[in-house]
Parts: sequence; C-alpha cells; structure tokens
Amino acid sequence: DTAMYTSKERKNSYHFFSSKNDRRLKLENGLRTALSNNEFRIYYQPQIDLKTGDIIAVEALLRWNHPEFGLISPAEFIPLAEETGRINPIGKWVLNTVCQQNKLWEKSGLPCLRIAVNVSSVQFQNASFIEDVKEILRENRLAPQYLELEITESIMQDVKKVLPIIRKLKEIGVKISIDDFGTGYSSLNVLNQLPIDYLKIDQSFIKDVLSSTNTEAIVKTIIQMGHSMNFMLIAEGIENREQVGFLVHNQCQMGQGFLFSRPLPAEEIESILATKYEI
Ligand code: C2E
Ligand code: MG
Ligand code: MG
Ligand code: MG
Repeated sequence: DTAMYTSKERKNSYHFFSSKNDRRLKLENGLRTALSNNEFRIYYQPQIDLKTGDIIAVEALLRWNHPEFGLISPAEFIPLAEETGRINPIGKWVLNTVCQQNKLWEKSGLPCLRIAVNVSSVQFQNASFIEDVKEILRENRLAPQYLELEITESIMQDVKKVLPIIRKLKEIGVKISIDDFGTGYSSLNVLNQLPIDYLKIDQSFIKDVLSSTNTEAIVKTIIQMGHSMNFMLIAEGIENREQVGFLVHNQCQMGQGFLFSRPLPAEEIESILATKYEI
C-alpha cells in the first residue's frame, strides 16, 4: 500500500530500484559481448592434500572484468547468464580455457594437476554438454582424469534426468564432485546412487565448526558418511589452522581456503604450485 510511504520515500525507492535495474540491464547486455571482448578471467585456488601439504588440484573460479563496473563476482553474473542462456557458451569457454591452461602447465614441466570447474545445472543439462566435454578434452589432448566437474546438490532434484548424464561423464573418465554439500536439497538415498568422486563440504560449516557443537556434529557426520560411500572429502573455506587441525583429526582428506591461498590468476598460481604447506 503506497499510503504507507511518504512521497520522499517513494521517490527514494524509485531511484534505488531504477539504478539497480539499470545495473542489471547493463550486465545482461554486457554478457552478450563479454566473451568476444575478452572480458572474462579465470582465477585458480589450490586444493591441498591435508596429509602431505601438497597442492594436488586447483579450482577454476570465473571473474568478469566489466568495462564500467570492474571485476564482478560470479555470484552476481552467473544467475543472469543462466536466465539469458549465455551460460552455455560461457561455460564452454571456461572448460576450454582451463584444459588449455592445464596442457600448458603439463608442457612446462609443472606437476600434473586436476582442475575443478564449476558447472551450472543449466549447462550440465544442455543437450550438447557431454559432446562438448569430449571434444574439448580431445582438442587439448588432455587426459580426462585431470578434469573435474563440480555440480551442486540442487541438480539431484531431477535424478532421472541427471543420473544418465553423470554416468556418461564417468565413462569418459572425468571426475565429478558435489559442491556446497550440506546446504541444498539432498536425499541421502540419491547420493548413494551417484557415481561421484568428491564431496565438497560447504564453507558455512567450516566457518562454524569450532564454535558450534551442532556444526561440529554435522561436519563429522558428513565426513563419516563420505568415507562409507567411498567419496573423497574436500573442506571449503578454511581460514585458520584450528580448522585444519579439526579436519585432519577427523580424516577429511583435502581442503582449500584463504589460509592456503586466495584464488589467483594463472601466472601467479604457477609460482606456488610446487609449494608444500605445513599441516
Ligand atoms: P564455489 O564453487 O563454492 O566457490 C567457492 C567460493 O568461495 C569462491 O567464491 C571462492 O573465492 C570463495 N572462497 C574460497 N576460499 C574461501 C575462504 O577461505 N573464505 C571465504 N569466505 N571464501 C572463500 P567466488 O569465486 O566468488 O565464486 C562464487 C561462486 O560462483 C562459486 O562458488 C560457484 O558456485 C560460482 N562460480 C564460480 N566460477 C564459476 C564458473 O566458471 N561457472 C559457474 N557455473 N559457476 C561459477
Ligand atoms: Mg566450486
Ligand atoms: Mg562451494
Ligand atoms: Mg558456492
């Protein structure tokens, strides 16, 4: 009811929404030309073996360097790209760029790494996705085990549609992980049927694991369940040594987070790939 607002408030909210919509419109339009204008960048965050301290994989995280707004978070533009369908060419570009980069690292004699790529559920269910993955691996002559596809739990809502896709991807030989595990829709019965390799424990749990006994119980339970279903566990969002201690004690195999490294551009990540972290 507009009578609840003074005319000044109405005016302010009008301006607020109009500038918000303005940004949204500009981003939506910009997404159409962002690829051809070379505005995307991939940052890489190391994943650490919590037994040895070695970097054994990196996660690719997309950034958009917008001509007017500067670096934009994927949390803002990925949903827009999904709505407009631009996610398919963008996601394909990410996959190709990451495989090319991995081949370059291999050729330059760096230790072999797996690169994890976030895949939107829209992209994952696109009819040409499986063929795209095959073609990109073939064109870059990259062995499939060096590519990991991260999907989220929400994808399991349509298990009849998604399970055959996961199976075909496993036949190709790529690795599959469930990202942000514990925050979404998840039937443990469905999880049990999925031929996946990694469970990534969501960073919200790692954040509170030392301060909340409930969260501590949740993380322990996820780890135990993951072990019994033969998934490798990756903890996300590790920011301090106490969290590492807890995770090592509870036999979580891998971790990533600002404590080890923030996501970095390829040139910067190269110089730390051989790092051995103290655990
Ligand atoms: P995600 O895949 O769960 O990625 C983890 C996010 O947590 C990243 O944010 C990363 O920078 C951040 N992070 C890593 N370590 C820490 C830490 O120790 N503390 C805190 N507070 N944060 C940490 P980012 O890069 O902004 O990405 C946000 C989300 O956007 C990703 O969440 C992923 O769902 C999505 N995303 C990123 N790149 C892509 C992409 O290429 N394709 C698709 N479809 N989605 C992407
Ligand atoms: Mg991820
Ligand atoms: Mg995550
Ligand atoms: Mg996330």
